[in-house]
Amino acid sequence: MQVFKTVKEIQIYFINSKPKSIGFVPTMGALHVGHISLINVSKKQNNITVCSIFVNPKQFNNPEDLIKYPRNIDADLEKLANANCDVVFVPSVEEMYPNKIEKEYNFGILSTVMEGEHRPGHFNGVAIVIERLFDIIKPNKAYFGEKDFQQLSVIKELVKQLKLPIKIIGCPIIREDNGLAMSSRNERLTKIEHNAASEINKALKYVSQNKNNYSVLELKKYFNNYLSKNKLLTTEYFEIADGNSLTPINHWNETEYLIAFTAVMVGGVRLIDNMTIIN
Ligand code: AMP
Repeated sequence: MQVFKTVKEIQIYFINSKPKSIGFVPTMGALHVGHISLINVSKKQNNITVCSIFVNPKQFNNPEDLIKYPRNIDADLEKLANANCDVVFVPSVEEMYPNKIEKEYNFGILSTVMEGEHRPGHFNGVAIVIERLFDIIKPNKAYFGEKDFQQLSVIKELVKQLKLPIKIIGCPIIREDNGLAMSSRNERLTKIEHNAASEINKALKYVSQNKNNYSVLELKKYFNNYLSKNKLLTTEYFEIADGNSLTPINHWNETEYLIAFTAVMVGGVRLIDNMTIIN
């Protein structure tokens, strides 16, 4: 496994190795089985798989969240080596942003609802880092988890707007045994909080399986009431939205492809999750 810290080094590597196809998995490190699942899919579909590890300051609207974001580069490199990842790109902030970038994107509703509403500037920061990484790596395919479904939608739109020749591939959410969606932020949960966080999955499951028994508003109420019973959990938002446009709905007949989305504070840790509604 090759590890590169600079743009120059990785680009020289590509010039010399001339890979037929590059699969790319961008991450912020503190890797877990969810991240490795993306590496595994990329390995199957490409000659070379590149993983980047970069905690992107531009996508953190909350400075404390950036400081507290888990970092563990040695363990990450070991996990990537075990997964037979070919190349790891670990740039510094200066390497990624040598010049001031103040680009403003317009993704319409995709970036203004839910996460966009609650984390102002977040998706603009995501788009800046992904555009820069795509320009450095020039992948044929790039892999993103459905755990961050709204991010996946924004990146598909980014690639469309910039007319980039990159196929964006969404990969399923990997969950822990208790149903909690794997996340680097789970490392920050105490045992009690971790246990409480598993309620998010239970409530999402109930919602996803009860379209035919209740109205949208009843299920929204159910979700909020269910989670509010646990003092460690505070629901930031819960929405049922169209899976393509991400427009939140209030009536089932508005669209067929529906996903339930939520962000929940568990103690001081903000977790997001989503689940497709069964028709
Ligand atoms: P992050 O390091 O949190 O920026 O995540 C890097 C990539 O891994 C993103 O595309 C995430 O959506 C994806 N990812 C994170 N957690 C999971 C998970 N539990 N299952 C599948 N993909 C995930």
